[in-house]
Amino acid sequence: MVKLRVDMHAHSDMTGEPYMRRNTPRRVIQGAFDRGLDVLNISDYRLDGFLDSIASNPEKNLPPGTAFWGGTQNDGYLHVRGPKGENLLLLRGMEWPNSDGSEHVLSVGHRTPIKHDPDAKISIPERAKIIKDHGGLVGAAHGFNVAYGGMGYNKLLEYADILDFFEVGNPLNTRNQMLDRLVRKLAIGQDMPGLVNSDSHDPHHIGMAHTVLDVDFDGSDPWSAPEKMRERVLQAVLTGDREFVLDYISQFSMGKIFIGQRILYGALERDGVEIKRGFDLIMDALKGK
Ligand SMILES: [Zn+2]
Repeated sequence: MVKLRVDMHAHSDMTGEPYMRRNTPRRVIQGAFDRGLDVLNISDYRLDGFLDSIASNPEKNLPPGTAFWGGTQNDGYLHVRGPKGENLLLLRGMEWPNSDGSEHVLSVGHRTPIKHDPDAKISIPERAKIIKDHGGLVGAAHGFNVAYGGMGYNKLLEYADILDFFEVGNPLNTRNQMLDRLVRKLAIGQDMPGLVNSDSHDPHHIGMAHTVLDVDFDGSDPWSAPEKMRERVLQAVLTGDREFVLDYISQFSMGKIFIGQRILYGALERDGVEIKRGFDLIMDALKGK
């Protein structure tokens, strides 16, 4: 058995929220190297283009000194190796909420891009089927925290048969840590695999919560055959022993991420071009343009 540090729920700047523009692929991957992660499943909202963007422009999107070591975006994984010998398996993932933003379904490791109409209303069972048809695992993100897109108690029970795992810990639940404890209890009661993920919206938070999975490689070095890793890691999510590493984001960071940045970027861009233009003029003036 090999212990691998996996973070199956994290965001890049492709998530589309203006306040997440700092999450460039290069910073995201550097963040995973710094945290010592082995496996990272990038799960942007309704988009799964992270691997494709790296493969199409590695000079821009990989940290300096990082090389491709195996896989292509068409295999559903990329193995990259950093300048200090850091190995990282990148998986194709997606976070797929309802069209109103509720009930986040998480895809882990689907093999080929999922094409869909982002505005279409697609039920949880339909989304689950599409993800499974593309070779991914289907999870419920945010557990009981309905305010952040969790399905909540009734839906988790209702859909337990079609879900592969519950997310049972998320650092954004700073003020609702009890909800994570409760969803862990439900997962144990339902014999449902659990995953703890960072749900990182900032490169510094990649992997701050993650799951240490026991993965079976028959005694061989997993990095000698990365093409087998994707499959074995997905299998280990379903059946492997695991430990959870879970830190919560400080209230201060929460405020900074979700209030400060949202007001600074999100609200300004959402509320109209005029305000945005005024903001840009001020920023340009400050930068001396
Ligand atoms: Zn998320």
